[in-house]
Amino acid sequence: MRHSVKRIANGCGAGPDIRVSFEFFPPKNAQMEATLGDTIARLSPLEPNFVSVTYGAGGSTRDTTRKTLQSVLATGNTPAAAHITCVDSTREEVDTVIRDFAALGIRRFVALRGDPSGGVGTRYQPHPEGYQNAAHLVAGIKAFGDFDISVAAYPERHPESPDLATDLDMLKRKVDNGATRAITQFFFDNDAYERYVERVRRAGIYIPIVPGIVPIHNFGAVRNFASKCGASVPAWLADRFEGLENDPHTHALVAAAVAAEQVFDLVDRGVNDFHFYTMNRPDLVFAVCRLIGIRETAQAQLHAA
Ligand code: FAD
Repeated sequence: MRHSVKRIANGCGAGPDIRVSFEFFPPKNAQMEATLGDTIARLSPLEPNFVSVTYGAGGSTRDTTRKTLQSVLATGNTPAAAHITCVDSTREEVDTVIRDFAALGIRRFVALRGDPSGGVGTRYQPHPEGYQNAAHLVAGIKAFGDFDISVAAYPERHPESPDLATDLDMLKRKVDNGATRAITQFFFDNDAYERYVERVRRAGIYIPIVPGIVPIHNFGAVRNFASKCGASVPAWLADRFEGLENDPHTHALVAAAVAAEQVFDLVDRGVNDFHFYTMNRPDLVFAVCRLIGIRETAQAQLHAA
C-alpha cells in the first residue's frame, strides 16, 4: 500500500508516496514465538508492501522459517517473502525448499548466498554440489516460476569484496538472472547510500535499491554487528546514544527519532521504498512508521483482530 508523507517542515502538504516492508527472523523458543506473533499483529495492519522472513545457513531454520511464513500468510492481508540461502547446501536441498515454500503460497523470495559457516569474515567455500553464489541461486529460483526475487546490496561494500566494482558486478549478475529489487545492508550514512545508487545506475542497473533501515534497540549490539558487516557508524550517532546504556526509555525515544530522521532525509533525496529490520520487535518500527505518516487501515485492523 502507498502512504503519503506529511511533514511540518514542508507545510504539512502531502509528500511523496511511501511504501514499507518489514523483516522478521524465525523465533528460537516459545517466548520469542509469542513476541513475534504480537509483532506481526501490530505491524501487518500498516499494510506493508511485503513482510520477509530470514533463513539460516545450511537450512538450519527451514522449519521455523516455514512456520513464520505461515503465520504471516495467516494474517490474510500481508504478502510474505521467503529468504533463502544456498551456503552449505546441495542444489537439491535448496530446490526442495523452494518447491515447499512455493506450495505454501509464497510468490516472493529474497535470494542470498549466506555467510560462510566460520562466520562473517572467514573464507566462503561454495558447496561442490550447490549453487555457487546468490546470482546462481536467483537463476535457480527463476527456473521454478516467475517469482518476485529480491537480492542483497551493500552501499558500503560487502566485507569479502575487494572493491565496489566487484560488488556491482555481482549485483548486475543477480539482476541479469532475474532479480527485480535489491534490499541494502543497513547503513547510517545516507551520503554513502546516495553515492552507491549513483554508481549502480552508472553500471546500468535500474532495479529499485531499497534502503534497509535498522531501528536501534541496543546501540552497543548494533555497533558490534556493524563492524562485522562493514556498515560505518558515524561519530554523531555514537554521540547521541552515549551514556544511555541504562536508560532504555530515552534510548528508545532517541532511536525512533534517529530512524525517522534518516528516513525523512532519504525521502528528501527521492527514496520512496523502505525495508525495516524489525528485530521481531514492533514498537520502534511502529513509531517510526507513524512519524513518516503510515497508519493502520480500518480494514487491515479487522483482519488482524
Ligand atoms: P553474493 O551476492 O553471492 O556475494 C556477496 C558479495 O561477495 C559480492 O557482492 C561480491 O562482492 C563478493 N563475492 C562473491 N563472490 C565473489 C568472488 N568469487 N570473488 C570476489 N568477490 C566475490 N544471511 C542469512 O544467512 N540469512 C538471511 O535470511 C539473510 N538475509 C539478508 C537480507 C539482506 C537484505 C542482506 C543485505 C543480507 C542478508 N543476509 C542473510 C546476509 C548475507 O547472506 C551475507 O551478507 C552474505 O555474506 C552475502 O550474501 P549475498 O547474497 O550478498 O552474496
